[in-house]
Amino acid sequence: MAVETIRITDANVHFPVRSGLFGQNKRIVHAVDGVNLTLNENETVALVGESGSGKTTLGQAVVGLQKLSSGRIDWRGKDVDALSGESMRGFHRDVQVVFQDPYGSLNPRQTIGQALRRPLLLHKTVAPAEADAYVEDLLDRVGLSPSYLYTDNFPHEFSGGQRQRIAIARALALNPSVLVADEPVSALDVSIRTQILKLLQRLKSELKLSLLFLSHDLGVVRFIADRVVVMYLGKLVETGPVDAIFDHPHHPYTQVLLGAAPSLSRARAHNRERVTIVGEPPKPTAPPSGCRFRTRCPFAMDICKVEPVLKDLGGGHSSACHLDGPALAP
Ligand code: SF4
Repeated sequence: MAVETIRITDANVHFPVRSGLFGQNKRIVHAVDGVNLTLNENETVALVGESGSGKTTLGQAVVGLQKLSSGRIDWRGKDVDALSGESMRGFHRDVQVVFQDPYGSLNPRQTIGQALRRPLLLHKTVAPAEADAYVEDLLDRVGLSPSYLYTDNFPHEFSGGQRQRIAIARALALNPSVLVADEPVSALDVSIRTQILKLLQRLKSELKLSLLFLSHDLGVVRFIADRVVVMYLGKLVETGPVDAIFDHPHHPYTQVLLGAAPSLSRARAHNRERVTIVGEPPKPTAPPSGCRFRTRCPFAMDICKVEPVLKDLGGGHSSACHLDGPALAP
């Protein structure tokens, strides 16, 4: 049976923003709206969507970098908001993050050895006398050995791919079970991306990690994900096993995303017409009522003024759309 590591229930993140000469106009950005999601041990869930979909905000909420406006996040059955003291430190050790820009996430004035030893000594998870051997193991685990070639050097002395391996090693230093990876390969050369993705896949299975993988790149998602969650303007619009999403997408927005990468979609290969949308995404301060996609959806109907709920399509696949079957181009 699947062991749940993270459960997100009715999560909302709303930011107030001010505009006008004296900041007199106050509006609310609905960055994340009513999202429910679970993440299991040894599972990769990919959060996908264009910029402004809310995936990064949700990822930050999972690692504790962003507070929810309402709703809750449970870590191994415990409400994260109710944690304090040692249980809160345990959460921060267990849930780690890998950022998009490995250079920006490493301190340029610290050697790699210092950067990797620091969390161990801060959290007292390893005795000082054993820290060097532990760092050596970490570097070996991410494919950087022999370690003496790396520990005394600074981040700028490495390539982008090596720096991302170092950032992954640092994320693993406290032996976490949950890793949130925010676009971890999008800043890397194409030739390096596969290596880093394979590394993450290997680490996931060796360490039984739960991997929450944030990406706008569907090619990468198809490669690494077990399950896919599609977000649009703060809402979860479709979720399911990776093959169901790529081969039988139901929600028109998912079809649009796949249509932009036609070689990935078997549905497209089966002569389904490409679904296209018009216009720009609405402002997150004024999302449309009802279905948030209705101002751009070619299938919008009167009923779409009523917000659709996630409908179970079977096999763990569900979609928030009033259409009965998968969308067909009009
Ligand atoms: Fe389009 Fe309506 Fe489905 Fe929204 S609910 S995606 S507007 S058909």
